[in-house]
Formats: sequence, C-alpha cells, structure tokens
Amino acid sequence: MLGKIKEEYLEGKDFIDDEKIWKQLNNSKNPNPSEIRRILKKSEKKIRLEPEEVAKLLQVEDEELLQDMFKLARKIKEDVYGKRIVFFAPLYIGNKCENNCLYCGFRKDNKSIVRKTLTMDELRKEVEIIEKAGHKRSILVYGEHSDYDADFMVETIKTVYDVKKDKGEIRRVNINAAPLEIEGYKKLHDAGIGTFQIFQETYHHETYAKLHPKGDRKSNYKWRIYGLDRAMKAGIDDVGIGALFGLYDWKFEVMGLLYHTIHLEETFGGVGPHTISFPRIESALDTPFTQNPKYKVSDENFKKIVAIIRLAVPYTGMILTARERPEVRKEVIPLGVSQVDAGSRIGVGGYKEFEKGYVPEKEQFQLGDMRSLDETIRDVCIEGCIPSFCTAGYRTARTGKKFMGLCKPGLVHNYCMPNAILTFKEYLLDYASPETKTAGEESIKKHLEDLEPDRKKLVEEKLKSIEQGKRDIYV
Ligand code: SAM
Ligand code: SF4
Repeated sequence: MLGKIKEEYLEGKDFIDDEKIWKQLNNSKNPNPSEIRRILKKSEKKIRLEPEEVAKLLQVEDEELLQDMFKLARKIKEDVYGKRIVFFAPLYIGNKCENNCLYCGFRKDNKSIVRKTLTMDELRKEVEIIEKAGHKRSILVYGEHSDYDADFMVETIKTVYDVKKDKGEIRRVNINAAPLEIEGYKKLHDAGIGTFQIFQETYHHETYAKLHPKGDRKSNYKWRIYGLDRAMKAGIDDVGIGALFGLYDWKFEVMGLLYHTIHLEETFGGVGPHTISFPRIESALDTPFTQNPKYKVSDENFKKIVAIIRLAVPYTGMILTARERPEVRKEVIPLGVSQVDAGSRIGVGGYKEFEKGYVPEKEQFQLGDMRSLDETIRDVCIEGCIPSFCTAGYRTARTGKKFMGLCKPGLVHNYCMPNAILTFKEYLLDYASPETKTAGEESIKKHLEDLEPDRKKLVEEKLKSIEQGKRDIYV
C-alpha cells in the first residue's frame, strides 16, 4: 500500500473557492463589448489576466468578439513562441493502479485491462523505437501504485537517459504521475527530470469527490492540488498543471486552471506553471463513464478553451495531445499551443506492439491522431510552422524564474526559433522521409529569413556544423 497522507492535507480549505468561481461566472453573463475590448488590450500587452476578466471572456457569445479573441490568441502565440512547435513522445511505464477514477481505463476494478509494468529491458526497447523515429523528449506515465515509488521512477528515468542508439538520445524526460512527498520529488530532481505534471482532473470539489471513490489515495483533493507546491519546494522548477475536460463545466475548469496558476505565482515569487494541459475525455475500454459524459466539450467550445487560456496566461506553455483528431489539432494549434506529441502509442509496451502490426485496444483510452511523427511533421511544415526538438531550456538552466525572465520580454524568440531550426535540421538529416525532408528544408529556409541578421548568421554557421556531422548544438 501507498504511505499515509500527512495530517495537514486531511482538513481545511484550499485555494479553489467553488462558490466564488460560480459567482464570477454568473455575474459575467452578457459581457459589455467595450469591456471585452479593454480586456483584450490588456492581454495584448501580455499581462496575465485576473479571474473576473477571464470569467467575462468565458461568457462571450457574440461572433464578432469571438473572432477578435481568436485573432489575438493567434498573435500572442506567435509573439511569444514564434512559429515553432515542440514535439514529444509519451511513454507508458506501467498501468497498475490502486485507484478507481471512474473515467480511466486503468482503474483498479477494470478487469478488461491487461496489467503490465515494463522491465528495464522492455523500456530500453521502447526508447530505442521512439529515438529511431527522431524524438528527443519523452514524458513517462505511471499508474498510482506502490510498485511505482520514487526509487522505481528514478530507475526508469536513468534507463531512458541511458539509451543512446545510433544518433538517438532522449535529452529531456518529463513525468506524469501521482503526487509525491517532497523527499520523492528530490530524488527525481537529482535524476534530472524536466517537468513534473499533475492534472487536477476537475477543480470542482463535489465532482472530484464523486469521480474519485472515498478511501482511494486520489480521493484527497487537497493532497493532489498541493502536489506541485511540494515539487517546487523540492527544487523542480518546471511543473505542469491540467484539467480533464468533460468531467465538469468547461468554464469552471478554465477558472480553476487560472486560480491554480495564480496560486503558484503567488507562492513561488512569480513563477507559475511551465505548462497547462487541457485534455478532453476519450472513450476507454469497459469504462461506462466515458460513453457520452454529461459535460462533454464540443469542438467549438474546445477552440474557445484554447484561445482563452492563451489570452489569460500569455507566457505559459500549452500542450495539446494526440487524443485530438488531426483536423482539430490543425485548427487549435495556431490558437496558442506550444507543444504536441506525435506518433504516440499509449499502451504499456505500445511502441513495440505497434511495430509488430498490432494496435493495442486495451489502452488507457483511445487516441484520435494515429499519424506517424514523420507525417505530422510534414503537415506542420506545410501549415507554415517549424517543428522543434529543442531541449536547451532546462539543460542551460533556463527554467523557473530565469525562463519567465527571458520569456516575458519576448526573448524566447532569440532562443526558441534558432534552437527549433537547429534541432529540426538534425531531424531532417537523421530521420525524415524524402517528402518530409523537402517540406522541412523549405520551412527552415523560410524561418531563417525571419531571424535578426546577427542571429541568422550564427544559426547558419551552426547549421553547417550539423551538416558536417555535429549533433546536439543549441544556443
Ligand atoms: N496515475 C497518475 C494520475 O492519475 O495522476 C498519472 C497517469 S494518468 C494515466 C494521466 C492522466 O490521464 C490523468 O491525469 C487523466 O487526466 C488522464 N486520463 C484518464 N482517463 C482518461 C480518459 N478516459 N480520456 C482522456 N484522458 C484520461
Ligand atoms: Fe489510476 Fe491515474 Fe487512471 Fe486514476 S487516472 S485510475 S490514478 S492511472
């Protein structure tokens, strides 16, 4: 069994006030267009919005205003992140779980799932496959189980960093796992993780209690919502928050994400979450809750969610996963997304199974986008963006406060775009199909032109060394 949760998490309030959020949302119905324009002006200056302001944006129905919001979200995304999109691969380590979250295929009582934990040898094989596709970043995912304690996680992290086949290597390992004690996070920090992600699932207390049966470790809302505070106290600068959309009212969840951001900023000297995720619930095997949930989010509202998060927190990274279909990804990426996964397989051992020609249906849930990394990359280039495999940020300690300091004045341009071009060049030389190579070289040419002359010269020099065989070059 997992250890006991500390007393301080067993009672008392947290920073999410459900009643206040509903009041703010209800008082914001039919917002005044001139007030919305004022809020958009503030957002354009890349100032984080206040809850009352976001509540108003969430209540906009007027088509013209909505179009203005989408337009500004696209502009902010480009101003802050340029045209680059960072790619990563999820890697499922084990699906044993001691919880019974009603919406998840991995829940303890689901007998249709084959339980499996990768051995270190099997993990190496999975890493070799994602490296062979060209990935440089991975997020390791674990069920919540006493087998998956911090020491086990450290072993898996070290194994992943250790696999270096041909020119492949994973340069940044992120984690999506259950909340830990500070001591546990410290071990992960020492093993060199990038971001630690925890999704609150729903910020609405009553719904949280309904979906996470009493007695389960996950049923403790407070332990989970302060999980990333403990991570930051342990020295992990980059943390990722998220809500699983479809469990409760989407407007409430956006407010929850904002309050969580503000809480982290206030507690940690202005450093908010590094990323926000906004997965929509997908259908999962023998998981009745996932069949037409009451709060299912439409594609139209999903677009609003992405744009409003972009407007509310201009500097926070936003992650869109392959849960979404290619058409949806194409439409919402320009509205604010900075990271996507591709070529993903989310079964435990899923990459190897897929190579053998079998699509595991007994996964946690079903993916909407099954395109390969190569195909996704090609489409991204054709749409005018540039794929990035950059991992320089955390390796040059541009994380937490430092990252925010660079990010806020827009300097990320000076690092992100050059590093996107350099890491993408590596990808094109080592992994791309001929068609993707053609589209990719075009994209590099175009984006080089957008750099300041000094930066362009520097990048061109570095590109030459990559062509001559050097790797892992960044600014
Ligand atoms: N077990 C850990 C936990 O619950 O925090 C981490 C791994 S869990 C597999 C990762 C995330 O998957 C959860 O936080 C949840 O948001 C998401 N998830 C669960 N069921 C899902 C479903 N049916 N569709 C989409 N995402 C789902
Ligand atoms: Fe277990 Fe996480 Fe799935 Fe809940 S969401 S059942 S904790 S794997």
